[in-house]
Amino acid sequence: MNTYAYGFPRLGRERQFKHLLEEFWAGNILETELRDGIDRLEEERLSAYRSSVDYFPVGEMTMYDPMLDMGIMLGLYPEGNDLDRYFQLARGVHALEMTKWFNTNYHYLVPVISVSKTGQLLLKKVWNKPLNAFLKCQDSNQGKIPFLIGPYTFARLSKGFPVGSLSKVVRALVPVYRELLDELRAAGAEYIHVDEPAFAGDVSEADQALIHEIYQDLGRHAPLLLIIAYDQVDFLSKLFCLPVAGFGLDFVHGVEALAALRTVRFPADKILVAGVVDGRSIWKTNLLRAAEMIDEIRRLTEGQIWVSNAAPLFHLPVSLEGETMEPYLRERICFAEERLNELALIKTLVTTGPTEETRRWNQYSQTPLHWNNEAVRQRVARLTPKDAERSAPYAERSKLQQERLKLPMFPTTTIGSFPQTGHVRKARTDVRSGKLSRQAYAGFMNDQIREVVRVQEEIGLDVFVHGEFERSDMVEYFAEHLGGFEITRNGWVISYGSRIYRPPLICGDVVRAGPITVENISFAQSLTKKPMKGMLTGPITILAWSFVREDLPLSDTACQLALAIHEEVLDLEKAGIRIIQIDEPAFRELAPMKRAMWPAYFAWAARAFCLAAKALPETQIHTHMCYSEFNEIIEYISALDADVITIEATRSRGEVIAAFERFRYPRQIGPGVYDIHTPAVVSPEEMAAVIERAIRVIPAEQIWVNPDCGLKTRGWNEAVQALHNMVAAARLLRERAKKR
Ligand code: GLN
Ligand code: ZN
Repeated sequence: MNTYAYGFPRLGRERQFKHLLEEFWAGNILETELRDGIDRLEEERLSAYRSSVDYFPVGEMTMYDPMLDMGIMLGLYPEGNDLDRYFQLARGVHALEMTKWFNTNYHYLVPVISVSKTGQLLLKKVWNKPLNAFLKCQDSNQGKIPFLIGPYTFARLSKGFPVGSLSKVVRALVPVYRELLDELRAAGAEYIHVDEPAFAGDVSEADQALIHEIYQDLGRHAPLLLIIAYDQVDFLSKLFCLPVAGFGLDFVHGVEALAALRTVRFPADKILVAGVVDGRSIWKTNLLRAAEMIDEIRRLTEGQIWVSNAAPLFHLPVSLEGETMEPYLRERICFAEERLNELALIKTLVTTGPTEETRRWNQYSQTPLHWNNEAVRQRVARLTPKDAERSAPYAERSKLQQERLKLPMFPTTTIGSFPQTGHVRKARTDVRSGKLSRQAYAGFMNDQIREVVRVQEEIGLDVFVHGEFERSDMVEYFAEHLGGFEITRNGWVISYGSRIYRPPLICGDVVRAGPITVENISFAQSLTKKPMKGMLTGPITILAWSFVREDLPLSDTACQLALAIHEEVLDLEKAGIRIIQIDEPAFRELAPMKRAMWPAYFAWAARAFCLAAKALPETQIHTHMCYSEFNEIIEYISALDADVITIEATRSRGEVIAAFERFRYPRQIGPGVYDIHTPAVVSPEEMAAVIERAIRVIPAEQIWVNPDCGLKTRGWNEAVQALHNMVAAARLLRERAKKR
């Protein structure tokens, strides 16, 4: 029996990855220093693997994103190997589009595979990244496994080619992969890790045949381990026929995987890379149960078994070292380094039996967590459908709201946050460390709010925000103020590029001890006659960007969160706030890999949102989401019954608006008129053009004018200029509407 681990985080214990990139971008270090730093980090990752597992991948490291690297290897972007050009692709003015990696909060750069006018695909091998890593790594050839993203997954996640030509693209990739594999084989690679998570999604019969065809070919060139994560594979019997060396399957999130092995025999001549420790949750594995699972698998197949992780480990923080949470909690938790240790312990347990260490590791399960709150459980149990329904239909609500708000046509607003400068961030850390008194901090925040209200007054926006200066992160802020959560000190995870976030831990029942945002929002409202939006993060987004508990279904935790947010809604209403925005940028992210599971997920997710958003009919509820794959979920979004929704519409060049051609959205929409991810200031004409396109499919009376997302990452100058242009765009639109 062997152990294998993959996907260990590249961030580094001290967040070196982030610092190296940002120092390089700022011009503070040279390219050689960046490269040396990344090499050192990779050496650290490899030694983490070495100290715990028998086999590990080489070539996973990247300077930004593995999908970008794969595209460069395949020759999609000429000159991509030059570092400046590389970062242009990643974050330049014409950067590649970014989107979520399966149902996770990691974002990859979407490859563009274009077909020439003559129907040719221009692909050629320009770089063999895993080969370089393989040759560089001094370990024996038995141990290191070159890592590649597989051709099917790569093509499924790409764009740029006509619908219906996936098979053509995949076939065109095969010769390039063949070349990569031949070189790796010639260099002495014993196995090759081919990552194919897309196999766990919906794979049509035609695609199954395609997969069969390409691996019939590639499997002959090198001994491949096809590694599949995130969900179960629906076509196991066809999968197991492929002429490859082995398969990696997820046994954590699918008890079904084990059941499936009882009906579909695992071939005796292949390796089963059995993912029995979780790559996405932070709770320790019950080693005894994992060992039993391995025994059970052993009874079902004569194939070799490698004990492994069920999903790449980069969804976890690097190390538990340095965390100071209560011992009874800490002893249950496991980050990436600890997961590696678990793999070694499971191997010991299975091969030689229990030891002092395996016993100690499992001891936590005897002590229950005392975080239960009976009152919240009762409230969730007593919920009725009425609790998730507004008391009046939209047509009535919108009249009441307009009487109260008296908004012009094409009302203008922002998404919530305003630029977070260094001194705002410093004030937040200083109050946390005690350097700044609570009182001085509150005074500082009020000054920020005063300033942002003044700025909005001057720009002439119609609906104001308070700027969100008190929030380091839209989820962490609520987690800090709600019972049932634990915040880590160093539990950082990469969300894309050098951007990291620190998911809070949901450890128990969620309760709101008292008002969270009311003081700031009502102070902001007291400074202006314009309506001030109360800003809240929605239950699904809090859930998606936290590590969740495992002893309660997600839908129950979502209800608890919804009740907490709903209490905040009621308090904001009491304080006289007329508009409340409940952000749900992660609403789609939690959707399961397989479409068949969507109706069930979206039903409980929408219910949670509606529970949170049950406001008086005269209160206008806004929600915000920022991604472009809207077409497929527009009906589900409509079910949220929000009075206004603000969405992304510029980066995807209007793809979003196309969704409304098919589905007549019955309420108000603000398609973002400019992209907040770049500092470039767009002209009023260009912004108006986005709305002109929208009013071809959405009645003008339903349309709002706003940016794509929050302004947190922008500088003040460009943010103010852009908003001036936005208000000018709204004026233009109003004049044109009068003339029509
Ligand atoms: N209200 C949040 C902000 O403006 C929304 C952020 C988001 O959608 N990710 O920052
Ligand atoms: Zn957004």
